[in-house]
Amino acid sequence: MPKKPAPPAHRGELLVRLSARGATRLQARHPWVYRSDIIGIEENDIPPGSVVRVEDQRGKFLGTALYSSSSQIAIRMISHGSVSRAELPELIAERIRAAISYRKALVSDTDAYRIVFSEADFLPGLIVDRYNDVLSLQILTQAIDAALVRQAIVTTLKQELRPTGILERVEARIRELEQLPPLQSGLLDGDKSSTEIRMNGVAFHYDGLEGQKTGAFLDQRENYAAAAQYAHGEALDAFCYQGGFALHMAPKCSSVMGVDSSRPALEMADKNSALNAERLGGREIEWIEANAFDLLRDYSAANRRYDTIVLDPPAFAKTKRDLEKALGGYKELNLRAMKMLRPGGILVTCSCSFHVSPADFLKVVADAAQDAHKSLRIIEHRGAAKDHPILLNVSETRYLQCMILSVSN
Ligand code: SAH
Repeated sequence: MPKKPAPPAHRGELLVRLSARGATRLQARHPWVYRSDIIGIEENDIPPGSVVRVEDQRGKFLGTALYSSSSQIAIRMISHGSVSRAELPELIAERIRAAISYRKALVSDTDAYRIVFSEADFLPGLIVDRYNDVLSLQILTQAIDAALVRQAIVTTLKQELRPTGILERVEARIRELEQLPPLQSGLLDGDKSSTEIRMNGVAFHYDGLEGQKTGAFLDQRENYAAAAQYAHGEALDAFCYQGGFALHMAPKCSSVMGVDSSRPALEMADKNSALNAERLGGREIEWIEANAFDLLRDYSAANRRYDTIVLDPPAFAKTKRDLEKALGGYKELNLRAMKMLRPGGILVTCSCSFHVSPADFLKVVADAAQDAHKSLRIIEHRGAAKDHPILLNVSETRYLQCMILSVSN
């Protein structure tokens, strides 16, 4: 076998050695290594956010990674080649351009989509979403927070997409975990933080800086269109947020009710209805502020019936430890929905936690069907929209599931 070329000469980069387990993980193309798999470095040896050269126990070169001094995920691979700190901003610019062209080939019928999805675009710690002419970015790690890297990100996005505004959404908790100084969400460039977007012909307001939660669930975009294809009759959109599923389904249904526990989300949903008045052709969507668990329990006790039900709850399993409880929550919701659906009815059921595997989810929905004494057929088992790529060897990137089922009897 020909020998691999020797790695470029050591250029004084910081060095991180991995245990055999850590090295095996990288060789399996997973980009993360946990702190417990790093050997031979003292705490404080490596400054936060460093670019590090990664080797196995025997000194074999494995690639270049971004180091975090605080996260349990101590390193995230950025390249299988050699990259110096000075070369990092240009590498990031290149990766952003590649992510943009990947979307050009795959995304259609929308002016709102994810442009950069962290590890899935080989840019660990960076998320960028496009909302028409406004870009919203999130910085999740020490290395991406470095001034020169930030500058490269903003400059590249401006050159490539010419937005009227670029804003940064800050999650205080993430900065705290990464031991980064507190920061406010705000505009990084331009003067516009709100706009209108359009997906599958449906219009939505977008306000990047107002409200409790900014942004739309872009990952559901293709699932909205799929759900609309089968929706009919009386429809219920549980956990509706700003109305994504409800607004898509309404033209196909005789009535639609959207339920969410967040009043600001429902206020936005109502504004979105007004924005789509023509498409809705006079149909009113009823928005109800309630706990969806309670509402489903009450409605099923009252024998209410529907032809289409969407279940899109928040991630119940935020950690592995929550998994059992989460599966219990999914089962309860699905069971109640199945009981309320008329024969021929459509169930659109989602899970957005990567701790719940496709097999787990399938099982929980199947168990619910058994308890509901119903036969269902799977019309589609879907995932996130294509602008949220799934890396084959990184199960964490396969987090969203959306099953569309038909209830027989
Ligand atoms: N279907 C939506 C996204 C749903 S996100 C879309 O496509 O845009 C999950 C939503 O569940 C959030 O809007 C949150 O406010 C809501 N939520 C969380 N717990 C809830 C509960 N117990 N009852 C009703 N809504 C809840």
